Amino acid sequence: MTQIAEHLSRAKEAVARCQSLALFTEDPPRIRRTFLSLPMRACHRQIEDWIRPLGMNVTVDAAGNLHGLYPGTNGTDRRLLIGSHLDTVPDAGAYDGILGVMLAISLVESLKGRRLPFAIEVIGFSEEEGVRFGVPFIGSRALVGRLDEELQSQRDSNSVSVQEAIQSYGLKPSEILAATLREGVLGYLEFHIEQGPVLEHRELPLGVVEAIAGQTRMEFIFTGVANHAGTTPMALRRDALVAAAEWALAVEREAREISGLVATVGALEAKPGATNVIAGECRATLDVRHESDATRTRSVSAFLRSATEIG
Ligand SMILES: [Zn+2]
Repeated sequence: MTQIAEHLSRAKEAVARCQSLALFTEDPPRIRRTFLSLPMRACHRQIEDWIRPLGMNVTVDAAGNLHGLYPGTNGTDRRLLIGSHLDTVPDAGAYDGILGVMLAISLVESLKGRRLPFAIEVIGFSEEEGVRFGVPFIGSRALVGRLDEELQSQRDSNSVSVQEAIQSYGLKPSEILAATLREGVLGYLEFHIEQGPVLEHRELPLGVVEAIAGQTRMEFIFTGVANHAGTTPMALRRDALVAAAEWALAVEREAREISGLVATVGALEAKPGATNVIAGECRATLDVRHESDATRTRSVSAFLRSATEIG
């Protein structure tokens, strides 16, 4: 096989594997696989079947992260981590997270048993999306030693705590600290599907992430006076919904002026929320992101000012 043909067949296989893992779901035919749910166990077993024959040592740590270790010429101390998350949001696609783990496996396969001067540790994180417990990054927090007691006592909608979930999966919460990454990490590489339209729009197959954007989330309450839609003249109104709407437009206008900034008013909720009543109150959400914290903070202050002015 030529090298290109070999790459193509590996790519096809990675995609096919994502599709087959999509069958492990709590909510068929939709894909939903949350932290340490039953389908996660099946997912772990399947991945293990794929990677053991490659000469990888497979373990699951106390936070439910799957690790596959491919030793280098000098053992396993100095190692490159490659991974992504194995959990999904409800009604997910087949590739979010999973693809990053499947490509890591493909890379190890492409070595065909050849050893590098360093080891490769493939990691399938148990949790990134925050679906089950409302807290994201449970898996990666454990690797940096920050899956603390408070987080472990969070409960899901069935009142099961993180700790209990770990126990019933057959793992030991007492070993969570031991899941912290040991020394010798050379770097971390993650492949992830693009969760936006830019690459597709530019017809590019791959992009390199240069920064991870910080994020500010806020909630605003615009307060007006609720009144009758028929008998309150326009000049005598204090309409909270209209103020919030005006502000949402101001946010959009200001955000467009700043390169790389994204700002979103994603929810407006008017009260009392009736066709024939002027809104007395309107709740609005704001999500602001930029790779520079200083730019983001400045913009958030500007959005606060315009909210006050419009109010
Ligand atoms: Zn993801």
